[in-house]
Amino acid sequence: MKKIVVAGAGGFIGGHLIKELIKKGHTVRAIDIKPLNEWYQISSEADNLVLDLRLRENCYRAVNGYNEVFNLAADMGGMGFIENNKAACMISVLINTHMLLAAKDCGIERFFYSSSACVYNGEKQTDPNNPGLKESDAYPALAEDGYGWEKLFSERMCRHFREDYGLTTRVARFHNVYGPFGTYNGGREKAPAAICRKVIEASIIGKKDITIWGDGHQTRSFMYIDDCIKGIQDIMYSNIEEPINLGSSEMVSINQLVDIVEEIAGIKLERKYDLNAPKGVRGRNSENTLIRKYLGWEPSIPLKKGIKKTYDWIIDQMGKDLSLQRGDNRFNK
Ligand code: NAD
Repeated sequence: MKKIVVAGAGGFIGGHLIKELIKKGHTVRAIDIKPLNEWYQISSEADNLVLDLRLRENCYRAVNGYNEVFNLAADMGGMGFIENNKAACMISVLINTHMLLAAKDCGIERFFYSSSACVYNGEKQTDPNNPGLKESDAYPALAEDGYGWEKLFSERMCRHFREDYGLTTRVARFHNVYGPFGTYNGGREKAPAAICRKVIEASIIGKKDITIWGDGHQTRSFMYIDDCIKGIQDIMYSNIEEPINLGSSEMVSINQLVDIVEEIAGIKLERKYDLNAPKGVRGRNSENTLIRKYLGWEPSIPLKKGIKKTYDWIIDQMGKDLSLQRGDNRFNK
């Protein structure tokens, strides 16, 4: 059993990962900048710390005496956030830089870094029928401005810490992750949660229409959180040295995603398309040849199944929010 640090523990993926690591019997130190009452999930068995990991001294305090690090901490969100907060996204470079330095100096045995499909060259994502981005498509580099460049730079820093200092680093490029215990409102939410929320809102207040960002023909793939958590661990403990895709290859258009959510909700809404809203690249999918080759596995939880679980969780949360506002406990029963 190991002593493992998870940075970004109060966030969506960090919260799920910690639950899994604790279940396996590891000792976990969980760290986030957010106050504890804002963490999506808290595991009381973990050593839960509130620290700003942009600061070098906090990173040393975080990793000292531990064996491994999963760095999931970043100032991030969906398209609406990253297109309007490029500087904030780039400042996350301080987190990974200081975590790598601390890991090297404190004798950390393995270091995981969560990169993103936003590192891929934008010119390879102009066709909605994207055949899938393979790992080599990150170069020549033309990453998503701000967030994507930070991820690409941090990936390379992991590589050079491995090559120059012998620190074992592993890097996965996540493609849109979704599931329960994540953001569904407030401006940082991503498409699956945002669409669930909008459809639920419409059904609660009897609204007849839904606003969709872009023309709805843009395509993406979405990975359910359980696949992500398995993939993170399998990549961490593999001998895969280069950055590797961790994403689903079940590509859908945003219109098809709305179809799925409407079917779950049992309603049909009139679609209004906001062509001025942030919409990101035209077509994106994960090409999974490399992960299949290394792990004999790829994320495969069907979108419909994952969305149903996510929808059920969001409707439950929105019910709780509503009952709090109304001061009654009808939805908590
Ligand atoms: P999240 O926003 O839910 O979690 C990130 C956490 O990092 C947040 O709780 C935040 O408070 C914390 N954090 C930010 N700045 C910090 C600081 N200075 N010190 C300590 N903690 C800090 O995001 P997530 O969806 O759980 O994503 C985890 C990682 O995976 C991130 O690095 C993200 O860029 C990457 N990623 C996620 C997706 C996705 O679809 N969710 C896709 C690609 C990459």
